[in-house]
Amino acid sequence: MTAQLIDGRAVAAAVLDRVLQATLQRTERGLRAPALATVLVGNDPASEVYVRNKRLACDKVGIRSIPVHFDADVTQEKLLTRVDMLNADPLIDGVLVQLPLPRHIDATRVIERIRADKDVDGFHPYNLGRLAQRMPTLRPCTPLGVIELLKSVGEPFKRRHAVVVGASNHVGRPMALELLLTGATTTVCHRFTYDLAEEVSRADIVVVAVGRPGLIHGDWIKAGATVIDVGMNRLADGRLVGDCEFERARERAAFITPVPGGVGTMTVAMLMQNTLQAAETADTPIS
Ligand code: NAP
Repeated sequence: MTAQLIDGRAVAAAVLDRVLQATLQRTERGLRAPALATVLVGNDPASEVYVRNKRLACDKVGIRSIPVHFDADVTQEKLLTRVDMLNADPLIDGVLVQLPLPRHIDATRVIERIRADKDVDGFHPYNLGRLAQRMPTLRPCTPLGVIELLKSVGEPFKRRHAVVVGASNHVGRPMALELLLTGATTTVCHRFTYDLAEEVSRADIVVVAVGRPGLIHGDWIKAGATVIDVGMNRLADGRLVGDCEFERARERAAFITPVPGGVGTMTVAMLMQNTLQAAETADTPIS
């Protein structure tokens, strides 16, 4: 068997098109375009690229992008004050603070300061709590993008066994909550898992998000499984690879995401969808 590739770029393009059509309809109805504030602290090259890509995506889908940039030595109080101002601005729907933040800033405090209904990254404890309680509001972008990819290949979820490898707050844990919500029987593996090979080999759906190239051996993949590789690792020769041995896994799986071209583009697409959702929620008067 050779797995069918899941084309993340095509699925992301479809999501972006849906968002564009919805923003156009908003402006036709006399509503303002959704607006996203992107807060960047310092000059980390990777963060600069991520933020630039988010702003470019905004331009593509008719979302107004408001760049906010602080020097790396900004004080925590100054950053929190700016978050408060963005929270209070009725013309801004989404507030995104690019992570990681410099070490002298408490990232948890900053994330918890963002108003939950403007938290388009879906990292605020309120939004994660709502996801855990099966009443999702704004949902973390990467796990939501993975669900979109799985739906694109007709994944039935119910009666299927999903194994998530990696248990971070931003990817692995919300990924498990999303899979539970679909009805998949869900196992989470982490660095203390006794026999990772055994767990992975029982999975109909494998989602790996660790950041270690080759962690998941291709031979562990159950025949006919679906493999979603969230990992992004830059090798010494410059190649970008995931966490799963791609070529061998491809011989066993039914569907597999490539790296690059799989999950990566979905994260930004879901951020655009979340910003639209935040704007539409803000339109609804609270009775
Ligand atoms: P992270 O915060 O470093 O979390 C990695 C997780 O893997 C942690 O829960 C860690 O356990 C666990 N882990 C470490 N070694 C393990 C092992 N041997 N077996 C099983 N689990 C193990 O990273 P992240 O933010 O979740 O990101 C994970 C990967 O996804 C990275 O490569 C990142 O670049 C990529 N990523 C991609 C996108 C995208 O858009 N494509 C978005 C986000 C992240 P502990 O909690 O015990 O440390």
